[in-house]
Amino acid sequence: EPLLQATDVHKSYGRTAALDGAALTVRAGEVVAVMGPSGSGKSTLLHCLAGIVRADSGQVRYRGRDLTTMSDRERSALRRTDFGFVFQFGQLVPELTCLENVAIPLRLAGTRRRDAEARAGAWLERLEVGDVAGQRPGEVSGGQGQRVAVARALVAGPRVVFADEPTGALDSLNGERVMRLLTEAAHDTGAAVVLVTHEARVAAYSDREIVVRDGKSRDTERVS
Ligand code: ADP
Ligand code: ADP
Repeated sequence: EPLLQATDVHKSYGRTAALDGAALTVRAGEVVAVMGPSGSGKSTLLHCLAGIVRADSGQVRYRGRDLTTMSDRERSALRRTDFGFVFQFGQLVPELTCLENVAIPLRLAGTRRRDAEARAGAWLERLEVGDVAGQRPGEVSGGQGQRVAVARALVAGPRVVFADEPTGALDSLNGERVMRLLTEAAHDTGAAVVLVTHEARVAAYSDREIVVRDGKSRDTERVS
C-alpha cells in the first residue's frame, strides 16, 4: 500500500474550485515533485495531503487512515508526529536562535532541552549550517535560513516532508544546494518528500513528477 494517496480530491474557496478531481500517490521514501502553472492548485493539493486543509470531497489516505474524515485535533497531532514542513519563507521563529528553531519539533515531542539541542546541532552540521547555531534567523542569509528550515523539518524523523517552493526565494546556486541537501537527507532517513515547484531545475531532484492543471492532476512517470 502507498504511504499517502489522494483520490478525486475536490476543494473550493467560495466559487473558486482550487482542486477539481486531483489524484496523487506517494510511496515510502520517494521524492515527488508537484508541478504546474501558478494558480493551478499545487499548494492546495499539498495542504490537503498534509492535513492542513480539509478536502471537500474525495479521499486522502495516509497509512490506512483518511485525513478528510479526521478531526482537526487528530490531523494536527498527525502533522506533529509524522510530517515535516519547509515553506518559501518566514517559517523560522525570529526571537529564537537557529539551534532553538531546529529543536522545536523535539521539544514539542517532549524531548529534554539538552538532548533536543544536541540533536538539533547535529542536524545543523549535516545541513552545512553548524556555524549559525547561535544566530537568529534575521542574521543569516536566505540560503542558510532555508537549510536551517530543512534541518527543523527532518529533526524529529518524519515519514513525509512537505516542501512548498522551498527554493523560491533563493538564487539558483543556493536553491540547488538546498535541494541536494534536502533530498540526500530524506533518502538517508527514509522520509518521502512532496515538493511543490514551478522550476524544472528544482523538480529534477525528484524521483517522479506530477503535473497539476486547473485543479486536476495526473502522474507522469519519469525515469531518473
Ligand atoms: P498554486 O499553488 O498552483 O499557485 P493554489 O493552490 O495556491 O495554486 O491556488 C489554486 C486556486 O485557489 C487559485 O485560484 C487561488 O487563488 C485559489 N485559492 C487558494 N487558496 C485560497 C484561499 N485560502 N482563499 C481563496 N482562494 C484561494
Ligand atoms: P550561504 O551560501 O551559506 O547561504 P551566503 O553566501 O548567502 O551564504 O552568505 C555568506 C555570508 O554572508 C553568511 O555567513 C551571512 O552571515 C552573510 N549574509 C548573506 N546574506 C545575508 C543577509 N541577507 N542578511 C545578513 N547576513 C547575510
